Amino acid sequence: MTAKKRIVFCDFDGTITVNDNIIAIINHFNPPGWKEIAEKTLAQELTIMDGVGQMFRLLPTSLEREVVDFGITNAKIRDGFADFLAFCRDEQIEFYVTSGGIDFFVYPILARFGIPENHIYCNGSDFTGERIEITWPNPCDRECGNNCGMCKTTIMRRFPADQYERIIIGDSVTDFEGAKLADIVYSRSYLTTKCRELGIAHTEYETFNDIINNMKSERSHKQDEL
Ligand SMILES: [Mg+2]
Ligand SMILES: [Zn+2]
Repeated sequence: MTAKKRIVFCDFDGTITVNDNIIAIINHFNPPGWKEIAEKTLAQELTIMDGVGQMFRLLPTSLEREVVDFGITNAKIRDGFADFLAFCRDEQIEFYVTSGGIDFFVYPILARFGIPENHIYCNGSDFTGERIEITWPNPCDRECGNNCGMCKTTIMRRFPADQYERIIIGDSVTDFEGAKLADIVYSRSYLTTKCRELGIAHTEYETFNDIINNMKSERSHKQDEL
């Protein structure tokens, strides 16, 4: 039997970065009406796709420079992220970013970490009209009816469970469907609450160093069993 290949699907907002960048941007520019849209999205009265699309449509493209600059400079990277990427390289664990964030901040923020662009999935943006339009290059496949916008489970299904040990790292409701599919879940915040409620095995983390240490100790357990 050949061992399954380990693969990580890592969320971006609130996971690689400390805070949620979409909310930070909208909150900073504070266009009238965004709070109602955010509340309806959180209450799942609007899909993520509709909610995020509507919030950005409140911003005129004349603000492009300011919005992009704020998105990039406001973000803080969670401790241990660069070490975790190095750990994945050493251990030959495949690493993918599966983000519901937007290209104009996701790619620039990740640029210094040397992740290949085809390992980064996120939403797109269009600044050519009067208002900022979010685009959705990674829609749900037939197995998902959630209108995710950027569909994490669709990406995961491209790496079948019989060949891959699928590891998900996340923090929120948008990671939950992926957590159900995954072999191993690293969770914080709302994702932890959700996993507890529904009895899904998970390991809590606060920094990426916690995840490295957990993976190392799992590995030594496995060696003990051999
Ligand atoms: Mg998140
Ligand atoms: Zn989906």
